[in-house]
Amino acid sequence: MGNFIKNNFGICNLCNGIIVKLNNLDYGYRCINCRSSYVHRAIGLTINKYFEQKQNIQNVTVYELSSRGALFKFLQKKFKNLVFSEFYDDVTPGEYKNGIQCQDVQNLTFEDGSFELVTSTEVFEHVPDDLKGFREVVRVLKPNGKFIFTVPLFEVPTTIERAHFDKDGNLVHVLPPEYHGDRIRGKEHVLAFRNYGLDIVDRLKQAGFSSVEIARPSSLKHQIARKQVIVAEK
Ligand SMILES: [Zn+2]
Repeated sequence: MGNFIKNNFGICNLCNGIIVKLNNLDYGYRCINCRSSYVHRAIGLTINKYFEQKQNIQNVTVYELSSRGALFKFLQKKFKNLVFSEFYDDVTPGEYKNGIQCQDVQNLTFEDGSFELVTSTEVFEHVPDDLKGFREVVRVLKPNGKFIFTVPLFEVPTTIERAHFDKDGNLVHVLPPEYHGDRIRGKEHVLAFRNYGLDIVDRLKQAGFSSVEIARPSSLKHQIARKQVIVAEK
């Protein structure tokens, strides 16, 4: 009985809700309250590790690259100064749609040194020019600010490019297109430009981060199956 409970349930570290097993995939363990997946819980655990000891944590300035979901709700509860956005193809960056600001991470409209923490989950594999995006995150971070984020990360040395835009702006597929879903555009609508390997560390350093660590939080209690979370410091 004890093992049955341990293997099929958990406690959500984002909201203290109950996690239940819906299927055998890593994504199958969902919080029945905030709907978190192991990806949200892994990044939440990592954010707490770096920011829980901080004084006046409420006043930390945070930018999250989405406006909904379990991580967003967790950040909103934890930080008073949370800025958030979505990317809309049909809205000028800086403008709003349904009350939510549009931002393109390759050309952020924020001032230099605006944030102590920037977060994203499973976004950067969809950014056409990720180096440009990483450089923008460096720019908007305060000195020693942290970028804590996840991407689907393969434990292989080298990132595999799947697609890119050529100099005329045409989309070129190097490999068969791989689409992921998101809450705005729906299932299987967002192209993955690459499959990241461990050289993401070098890409981040190339973009201007001074140190990069890949955390691999794992917890049976919170049903987190060893998800990589990248911690890059300006
Ligand atoms: Zn939860």
